[in-house]
Amino acid sequence: MLPLNDLDRIWKRENGMTRRFWLGYCSALAAIPVLGSRVEGRVVTQPKFESDPFTLGVTSGDPSSTGFVLWTRLAPKPLEPFGGMGPELVEVSWVLAEDEACTKVVRQGKTLATPQLGHSVHVEIDALLPDRTLYFKFRAGDAESPVGRTRTMPADDAMPERLKFAFASCQHFETGYYTAYEDMLRQSPDLVFHLGDYIYEGKGAEGKIRKHIGDEIKSLEDYRIRHAQYRSDPALKAMHAACPWVVTWDDHEVDNNYAGDISEEKNVSPLELLKRRANAYQAYYEMMPLRKSSLPTGPDMQLYRTVKFGRLAEFAVLDTRQYRSNQPNDDKASPLNEAARDEKASMLGDKQRGWLMSKLLRSQSVWNVLAQQVMMGVNTVSRDETEKFSMDQWPGYLAERNAILEFMKTRRVPNPVVLTGDIHSNWVNDLRPEERDFEKPVVATEFVGTSISSGGDGTGQPPYLGLLLSRNPGVKYFNAQRGYVLCNVTPEKWQADYRIVEKVTSPGAAVDTKASFVVEEGKPGAVKG
Ligand code: FE
Ligand code: CA
Repeated sequence: MLPLNDLDRIWKRENGMTRRFWLGYCSALAAIPVLGSRVEGRVVTQPKFESDPFTLGVTSGDPSSTGFVLWTRLAPKPLEPFGGMGPELVEVSWVLAEDEACTKVVRQGKTLATPQLGHSVHVEIDALLPDRTLYFKFRAGDAESPVGRTRTMPADDAMPERLKFAFASCQHFETGYYTAYEDMLRQSPDLVFHLGDYIYEGKGAEGKIRKHIGDEIKSLEDYRIRHAQYRSDPALKAMHAACPWVVTWDDHEVDNNYAGDISEEKNVSPLELLKRRANAYQAYYEMMPLRKSSLPTGPDMQLYRTVKFGRLAEFAVLDTRQYRSNQPNDDKASPLNEAARDEKASMLGDKQRGWLMSKLLRSQSVWNVLAQQVMMGVNTVSRDETEKFSMDQWPGYLAERNAILEFMKTRRVPNPVVLTGDIHSNWVNDLRPEERDFEKPVVATEFVGTSISSGGDGTGQPPYLGLLLSRNPGVKYFNAQRGYVLCNVTPEKWQADYRIVEKVTSPGAAVDTKASFVVEEGKPGAVKG
């Protein structure tokens, strides 16, 4: 511990507020009863570990201009029940510093890792200076975690010259290596967005690159072990330690193609699905660098939220699973029929849609981004006569999809950009409120990023490519290999580089930019860069 007057000095320098005010603020927060702050049971202040409890590494996330969440989880045996931890509450100390050696301390403190949250640690820090790179680490007993690097966002009213960020999705552990993350680490982005399918729920399959532990996951412990298995991957773990992450889920964090409380399997009741969802959501919260506002309440969890990078870009991070109505047409690929156009159907739910619209109305940002899961472009992948569309994606919720784009158009929302995962392929789409009237003006651009590993190696030139492009004139680019998208954003232009991994079925493959697309400020629609 630093002497008190040193701490005060650091506080004033860092925060422009007195420590006394801060301590008052903290104790006010502590009075709010939340699950994570319960301190019943035996507290161990000097735990002894037989092996490293920091096997799952460290990460940070949900950055603002004044803070972020620092994360770790104690798990000396990450692939065993309870991560090899006992029922005790364990004291964990943390330090936030200006240097990688963590000697120039900016803030430090202690918290408890509790058994009810799988001994995860979420330290929410505020009142820091904007636009700072900082380092952090944890300690429990004699064990010390690896050092993580993080940063605050620029001040809310600043106009940063550049934002460099990556977005990723769909990392099936069994079908490929996470080579994409090794490349992402070398690119050193300011931020990473993960758009869902962080884990997959299926049972271990034979004959793959790697194998899931156990059967299809359902219990809290199942989900915890699955998350731990994924996070044990060294490339993923290293990327998590390198910069703040902003995560949102899709379906496989719970179960394939679930919608709200409705399972894709007809014999599973909403009650059963909600019980499973509660387990899945809790394990997700535990593993991710999320704020207290995302702490689950039973099967409910607040995940949609805002991330701002000064006035350059504002991200609405959406949750298109928890509140959605059932997929129309029994979730089968269908023409754009009456069920797909049902006015009552919703992907976002009323509350989230209202929040999104009011957020877009008051935005003062140059780029207004939806970071979300499923494709908004109304594109067909049919190879026969009838053009059919995925009912699990926005074409199954056409009225709501078109209303959002119409809103962006009539309210003249500056430079809307949509980021998407889920579909295990790369697309660049022009978006219009009139879904397939290609004469109408373009309102927004959609960058769909492929999977990190799901689907195996894939192909750059599939045999159906010509038909796909001729049937979908709004599509500027398509590729079905693996990788992620690296975006360089300035006040004048948005550049999206499609970083493609040559193959994921063997480690260490080459990664290269296969295509670049640019949107210029004030000119909707991407052009080849
Ligand atoms: Fe997926
Ligand atoms: Ca999905």
